[in-house]
Amino acid sequence: ATSSLPKTMKAVIIEKNGGTDVLQYKTDVPVPDLKDGEVLVKNEYIGINYIDTYFRTGLYPLPHSPYILGREGSGTIAAVGSNAPKDLEVGKRVVYMGQYAYAEYTPVTSTYCVPIPDAVETKIAAASCLQALTALTLIREAHPVQKGDWVLVTAAAGGVGLWLCQLLKAVGARTIATASTPEKRELAKTNGAEVLVEYHEEDREKFTKQVLDITGGEGVAAVFDSVGKATFDACLASVKRKGSMVSFGNASGAVTGFTLGRLSAKNVKLLRPTLFNYVATRDEFLHSADELWSFILKDNLNVKIHEIYPLKDVVRATEDIESRKTTGKLLLKP
Ligand code: NDP
Repeated sequence: ATSSLPKTMKAVIIEKNGGTDVLQYKTDVPVPDLKDGEVLVKNEYIGINYIDTYFRTGLYPLPHSPYILGREGSGTIAAVGSNAPKDLEVGKRVVYMGQYAYAEYTPVTSTYCVPIPDAVETKIAAASCLQALTALTLIREAHPVQKGDWVLVTAAAGGVGLWLCQLLKAVGARTIATASTPEKRELAKTNGAEVLVEYHEEDREKFTKQVLDITGGEGVAAVFDSVGKATFDACLASVKRKGSMVSFGNASGAVTGFTLGRLSAKNVKLLRPTLFNYVATRDEFLHSADELWSFILKDNLNVKIHEIYPLKDVVRATEDIESRKTTGKLLLKP
């Protein structure tokens, strides 16, 4: 089933890895065809995620070239491919995760496409999906956080970071948050963090000592670290005996050369999880999305949108997230 579709669309394509100059905003990109099980979404909002920069720089390999970046969006279904689930019909308001989101129209695997409840705004859905589900699966599955646990969160005022602060508060954990400016750290606090620490990039031992002092010398039950290279060692040193070191991102560069023997000092569990291996089937996605809507609506969680940029301003938006001056979610609007 198809509503009347144009032949071409606006989209941001890249043909090679590089700086933000490889992001090409075009107005004549062919509207994609659908494969079995896919639906075509007319995007109203497109979510920017830090992972988009990894694909652009080459930290993660480009799946093909030319390529359209972007891994989530929300809007309405414009066409339905064969064998799509019954709840995905033309005109339905949906949010999805997948690929090719920096565009007017995106072909979406129905596994990761779900109707948005009436009570949730379309932009809130795009601002929540991937980052919130990441935070949710981290605290439920990577390290099932218990009430009263001390937890350390880095980049705590970022997209995933603010979700972690709020969800950890909602489940009764005690969060130590770090971020690069006093304003960002304060924002983490208004979103649920209990204690704030500086990164102390010039003196990592000072950072660890602060965390140990806060936790009575023990260390935290879990670290959720997305900064990677620059913070990994200080974070690992801040985990308590039998705690979890959850490294889920590389904003400062990838962690390399880790020697397994280091874990034996405290019997620490080390994880490097991805959302897509916690949420891999449509049932898992629907279940996680339900839990997310319930947090947003019943626990009244605050979805902080940094800015909604026109799609043609993709370079400015990307430079903003990479320059560490954003808080919460960046959205693009086609
Ligand atoms: P954010 O909004 O958190 O932006 C990235 C943040 O990283 C910055 O704001 C900055 O916060 C911090 N940062 C630290 N060092 C650097 C650096 N050298 N350059 C740039 N930024 C730096 O982005 P997202 O919420 O989209 O993603 C957060 C992290 O979570 C990313 O690392 C991402 O890859 C990861 N992630 C992993 C997933 C998974 O499945 N494993 C899924 C989703 C996200 P500050 O200045 O306060 O340090």
